[in-house]
Amino acid sequence: MSYDNNNIFAKVLRGEIPCKKIYEDEFVLSFYDINPQKKIHALVIPKGKYTDLDDFNNNASSDEIAGFFRGVSKVANKLGISIDKGNGYRALANIGENGGQEVPHLHFHLFGGEKIGKMVE
Ligand code: 5GP
Repeated sequence: MSYDNNNIFAKVLRGEIPCKKIYEDEFVLSFYDINPQKKIHALVIPKGKYTDLDDFNNNASSDEIAGFFRGVSKVANKLGISIDKGNGYRALANIGENGGQEVPHLHFHLFGGEKIGKMVE
């Protein structure tokens, strides 16, 4: 699938749609999900144009991949849900149609602040 420059998260990255920002660096932007499913529900997206996790892992540079996954832990730490600061969290990526992905820009959901429950409903 080619990258759609008009997907919602591309617009968030360009500042065309507002977000409640949690963290930003060279590699990632993190913000709260507009429709939270748990007490804390954050999204972490890479700054590069990648549709999903497979696209990212196949095409991103090693620096981008390291920066993104380090960013996930930085966000968890900032939110106080990391192993170090809290009681842990769930990181989840939906990938493609069968995975239930709605926005075609790679994102990880971070759920925390309470027991997250069953892995798959
Ligand atoms: P997916 O189903 O693709 O894994 O998750 C997409 C997520 O993006 C959903 O949880 C949805 O609530 C969230 N979302 C959709 N549009 C917006 C938006 O404009 N702003 C924010 N912050 N989140 C959004």
